[in-house]
Amino acid sequence: MDWHSELLLRQEIVKVGKRLKQEGLVAHTDGNISVRLDANWILITPSGVNKGELKPNQILKVNLSDGEAEGLGKPSVETPFHLAIYKSREDVNAVVHAHPPYATAFAAAGISLKEPIFPEMVVRFGEIPLVPYATPGTERLAELVGESIRDHEALLLQNHGAITVGQNLEEACGLMEALEWTAKVFWLAKALGELIPLRPSEIARLAPMRSNPFK
Ligand SMILES: [Zn+2]
Repeated sequence: MDWHSELLLRQEIVKVGKRLKQEGLVAHTDGNISVRLDANWILITPSGVNKGELKPNQILKVNLSDGEAEGLGKPSVETPFHLAIYKSREDVNAVVHAHPPYATAFAAAGISLKEPIFPEMVVRFGEIPLVPYATPGTERLAELVGESIRDHEALLLQNHGAITVGQNLEEACGLMEALEWTAKVFWLAKALGELIPLRPSEIARLAPMRSNPFK
């Protein structure tokens, strides 16, 4: 990829970092963002940096096959699960990891967002599974995420946060916002009483639209 296209991607990561911060989806230096650069490399946010104050030159390049990093500072501690996602899904070009309060509350309570309660949820996500807890930054977490992401665009990480993926950064970030919206509606609906899931016949009608979730 030429330097100009790479610079545009770095600037896009900076923009997504600001968006996550402004929308309250990450706190302090939490969260990480990556994008596929070419067949061998990804760009990923550095470890320990406030995502609202990122600079394009702080973003690191990491090799997909051996994890070698190029750039200043250290790549995100969650680099192993980003690499696992790109290896598991050829169609994915961007990954966002955040700790959105409502989604993370469900993850902390051990509740997945599987019950389809509104149509956009079925079309965008199908279901949002809960990945069992593993220590952040470990190969075990990478393994679990790499497996779970195969059939899903969004995951909850038990006692931790959430991951969304997309064909580009705009999609991955938009899905993180939609995931938090979904979790918030779940929480509000549960506060009012029992959830009323969509009927199976309606889910069957909506499901084919999921084959093109981004159109
Ligand atoms: Zn995290």
